[in-house]
Amino acid sequence: MFVIAAVAADFFDNQSHKSMNNSKTLLRLTLVSILSVLVLLPAEARKKAKTVEGPQPPKYIFYMIGDGMGFNEVYGAQNYNQVTGDGPEYINFTQFPVRTVITTFSASTLVTDSAAAGTALATGVKTYNNGLGVDPDHKPVNSVCYYAHQAGMGAGVATTVGVNHATPAAFFGHADHRNEYDKLATQLIEADFIDFAAGGGFLNEVRKTGRDSKYFEDKSKEAGIGVFHGKEQWGNLSNYNGRVFCFNVDPARTELKYAMDQKPGDTNLSDFVKAGIDYLYGHFAEKGFVFMVEGGKIDGAGHGDDAACNIKETNDFAAAIDVVLAFYDKHPDETLILVTADHETGGLQLGAGQYEMHPELLKVRKLSEDEINREFRILAGVGADRRPLPGRKVPTYEQVKEFLGQYIGLWKTIEVDEDQEAAFREMYHNAFELDEEEIVESLYSTSNRIVSDAIMYADKKAGYQWSHGSHTGSPLGLYIKGAVATEFNVVTDNSLIVPTIRKVAKF
Ligand SMILES: [Zn+2]
Repeated sequence: MFVIAAVAADFFDNQSHKSMNNSKTLLRLTLVSILSVLVLLPAEARKKAKTVEGPQPPKYIFYMIGDGMGFNEVYGAQNYNQVTGDGPEYINFTQFPVRTVITTFSASTLVTDSAAAGTALATGVKTYNNGLGVDPDHKPVNSVCYYAHQAGMGAGVATTVGVNHATPAAFFGHADHRNEYDKLATQLIEADFIDFAAGGGFLNEVRKTGRDSKYFEDKSKEAGIGVFHGKEQWGNLSNYNGRVFCFNVDPARTELKYAMDQKPGDTNLSDFVKAGIDYLYGHFAEKGFVFMVEGGKIDGAGHGDDAACNIKETNDFAAAIDVVLAFYDKHPDETLILVTADHETGGLQLGAGQYEMHPELLKVRKLSEDEINREFRILAGVGADRRPLPGRKVPTYEQVKEFLGQYIGLWKTIEVDEDQEAAFREMYHNAFELDEEEIVESLYSTSNRIVSDAIMYADKKAGYQWSHGSHTGSPLGLYIKGAVATEFNVVTDNSLIVPTIRKVAKF
C-alpha cells in the first residue's frame, strides 16, 4: 500500500514540477491520499468515488498493445493502405482524439525487450530486460489486472502469440526470466484474477520437461477452467460459468498464423476480442473490466525484416481495435481505449535513401517470409530439415528467378539491378551447385538467404528499409479515446500508464 502511494506521489511530482503552485500542490496531496485510501478499500472506495463530482471513472478499459509497433510501423502501414487501397485509409487509432509520446527504456538499458516493457506497461514498474512481473530486486509486482480484480472488476488478456509469452504474462506472472514458460503457464492457471485469457496456446519447455501445451490445458481443466479451441467451440461466452481460456483452432499451434497466411476458419485476433468482450461484458457489465489485447506478431515480422507481413499484422491489430470501437459506440461514456506498443522492432525507416516511396510494390506479396520459405523448400526439393527429399530435382536459376518473381515481384514489378542479380547468381551457385545453402536466422525464424535477401531488396525498393533484426529504443505513440482520455496527456513514459489508469478509474 505504501509503495503504491509512493509511486503515485512520484508520478505527480514528475507531472507537476514545471508549473507547481499552491492549488496544484493541494490537488496533488488530495489525490495521493485518495489513492492511498482506495488501495485500502478498492471496491468500497470505487463506489464512493462515483458520488464525488467530476467525470465518472471509466468502467470498460481496453489496453491494446502492438508488440514491436513503432511510429514507422503504424504510418508505414497507413502509407501502404492509402496507396494501394488494400487496407483502411487511416489506421483507426491514428485518429484517436488524444495522442502522446512515451519513452520505453528498461531498468537495465535504453533498449527494452518485451518482458521489461510488458512489466512497465502492466504494473507501472521498470525492471531489467528479461525480467517479468518482478522489480529490479526480483520482487514480484502486481499488474493492473490484479488491482482491477481487487476492486471487483473483471480482467482479461488476449494475444496472437502464446498466452504466457512476455507481454500477456506481465499481466499475471512473475519470473526472473521471461523464458520460464512452464512456471508462467502454471501461474496463469492459478491467477484467479484473470477471468478470460486467449492466445495461440501455452508456450512450454517440452524439450526439457516433456510438458507441452496440452499438459497445461489438462491442468487448466482440472482447475475447473473452460478450455476451447476456435470460435465454433467457444460460441457465445456471455453466460459461461467459470474462468475461460480460448486458444487457436489448431491445438498443435501455440501461436496464431500471421494474418496474411490465415485461411478462412483460422482463428484471428478479432475472434479473441469478440469472445473476450462477450465474456467480460456478460459477467462484469456492472462492475467493469480491464481487457489487455496484444498484436503479438508485429514484432515477429520486424525481427524477420518483412515489411509486407509487418503491414498486414498492423492492419490485423487495427481490425481487432475496430471490434473494440464497435463496443465503444454502444458505451461511449463508460469506455476507455488505450493503444500503444512495447518497443519498435527492426529499425524500420520510411524512404530508403530516396525522396519517394512505392508501397504498391509490396502488393504482390501474399505470404509471410516463413510461408514463402516453405514454398521455396518445395522448389528446392528439400524437407523441413533442409535435407534433400527422395527423387529431388534441383531447380534451375531461371526457375529460382521465376519463383522470386511470383512471390516477391522481382523482375516482374520490381527491377533488379546488376549488382543484386550477380549476388543472386552467387547465392544460387552456393546453394544448388556447391550444395552449401546459406541460412539467415532471425529471432523467431530461419530463412534461405536467397528468399531473405529478395525480401529485403523488395522492401527497400518499396521504401521500407530495415536497419537490423533487433529492437530499438525509439519512443512510441500512446493513442487514447473515450472516457477521461485527456487525463493521459501527461503520460510521457510506459511506466506512467498504469498509475494513470488506476487514478482515473479509481481502483
Ligand atoms: Zn521482439
